[in-house]
Amino acid sequence: TGVRCNNRLQYLPLQVSRRPSKGQTMDPAVPLPLAPPLLSRATESAKDWAILHGVAMRTEEEPNSSDVVNFAPFLLLPSPVPRALFDQAKAVQRDFNLLVHRLSQDADFLSSCLKSTIQVDDFTCRLFRIYEQVRREGVAQPVCLGLHRSDYMLDDPCRSGQENGEPVAKQPRLDQLQLKQIEINCIASSFGGLGTQMPGLHRHVLRLCGASRFTADQHLPQNRAMSSVAGGLAAAWELYGEQSAIIVFVVQEENRNAMDQRWLEFAAMDRNPSIRVRRYSLMEIHARGELRPDKTLLVDGLEVAVAYFRAGYIPTDYPTEQEWKARLNIEQSRAIKCPCISYHLAGTKKVQQELAQPGVLEQFLEDPAAVARVRATFAGQYTLELVRKSNGSSSNELHVKRPELLLGPDPKGSAKFSTKDSTLDGKGPQGDRTVQMVMSDSGRFVMKPQREGGGNNIFGDDIPAALNNMADPKERTAYVVMDRVRPAVVSNYMVRPGRDPALTEAVSELGIFGVFIGKGNEVVLNQEGGHLLRTKPSSTEDGGVASGNALLDSPYLI
Ligand code: ADP
Ligand code: MG
Ligand code: MG
Repeated sequence: TGVRCNNRLQYLPLQVSRRPSKGQTMDPAVPLPLAPPLLSRATESAKDWAILHGVAMRTEEEPNSSDVVNFAPFLLLPSPVPRALFDQAKAVQRDFNLLVHRLSQDADFLSSCLKSTIQVDDFTCRLFRIYEQVRREGVAQPVCLGLHRSDYMLDDPCRSGQENGEPVAKQPRLDQLQLKQIEINCIASSFGGLGTQMPGLHRHVLRLCGASRFTADQHLPQNRAMSSVAGGLAAAWELYGEQSAIIVFVVQEENRNAMDQRWLEFAAMDRNPSIRVRRYSLMEIHARGELRPDKTLLVDGLEVAVAYFRAGYIPTDYPTEQEWKARLNIEQSRAIKCPCISYHLAGTKKVQQELAQPGVLEQFLEDPAAVARVRATFAGQYTLELVRKSNGSSSNELHVKRPELLLGPDPKGSAKFSTKDSTLDGKGPQGDRTVQMVMSDSGRFVMKPQREGGGNNIFGDDIPAALNNMADPKERTAYVVMDRVRPAVVSNYMVRPGRDPALTEAVSELGIFGVFIGKGNEVVLNQEGGHLLRTKPSSTEDGGVASGNALLDSPYLI
């Protein structure tokens, strides 16, 4: 099941590590593939370490019971991440936290941004209606808790234009890799709990492979994700100011990833002995909840201080009107929401596409250095919005709203798509330049709907068919188009329950948590909150640990 190894092994961790204390001594290199006895010894030991340290997940067969749990799938070795890019991702997190907060406060921006999308996307539309309703009624709780996670891939320019799965010609040059944001998650950002244990697991495995403790400590950064996220929950609870009130984890009925949430629950309780956490589904909140006239939210008679959503971000979380009612009641209440509905909307792919257009960041961040830090992480993003004719009706032809902005941060677009016949006044149909662009070179793009949790995107060659199959061109405005990032490929062993460890060509996605508490225009808390590395086979397009594509990992900084 392994793959043939080639010269890319140079990119492997242990071969670049050096013990500086005694001058030149190199740590023993670990060539891949690992010798079979070492591989099986390390794998067995790592699985047990994972179980003993709570890198755990419920099984597919019994998603609602902890009677039998498994270790969560993981990478045997930590995957290499250039230290400079890791630091860059951490350094920009507080800017992103502030950006999300600022734009969430801007009703005009959110409305105009999502206007076309909500005409065709029922789910986003319903969220937007809740947003409008609570604004109309008056927001009962000005405090908003953000527990975000901004995700990045390390773009390897050598791979651009290369079709997925083809052999990679060259060893990625570390100094050429670029940090590119894939998305920022503003709701149910997961794996702060399990991910926090991963450096410990990898420290253990590296020791088994002969690395010194020094090497392990040098290269495996500590991860504060769990304590940061729990700290945010505890801080919000304290701000609410009622000792007897509870934190509610709003969870899905079926929940393989409950262990990750438990870590956060227990860590929050450790922070403050008065904190009590209860787990409820939206349906349970509907059935057992009560919204008092003074906007206090009770569930099972207990006042809710904080509602932390680990559900509610996909349409299937709302099978009936009752779940929608529960979501509305929570939003109407005095409970501190994580996220509040405006943060939820701020995290949509559509908003992120709009932020990538020139001049938009400047509306929200006054510090030019912050703007530069944020923008440096953006890949090109393109709207598929219909143009409005001067008579007010929509043209059936599609094009970018502002064709001069097609370039985004990607200079490749400039030569191909001139702007000379564009109308910037939005008065006439200008053809379908975005569509043309995507159709003519679909391998360069990803088409993303307003969904979370992985498995929803349309990649490369599938895009033309998807566009052609839409009965009404309007449907396209449910999506945004993004430049496809070509992450650097590394070799690593995937360890999954019930399977032999498999040496696989893999790509990683680095997430940085952000913890933010805002109160109107006031910033109460703004922190970078630890990290998460997830790695998936390079042949898989979509990501997500919960969706079964990606595995837990931790960065080996080089
Ligand atoms: P979701 O909210 O569903 O996680 P993402 O934007 O993170 O949506 O997309 C899911 C997965 O698709 C990512 O984890 C990544 O593997 C892949 N992906 C998304 N955008 C890109 C992109 N621009 N280039 C390459 N892969 C992408
Ligand atoms: Mg997401
Ligand atoms: Mg994602």
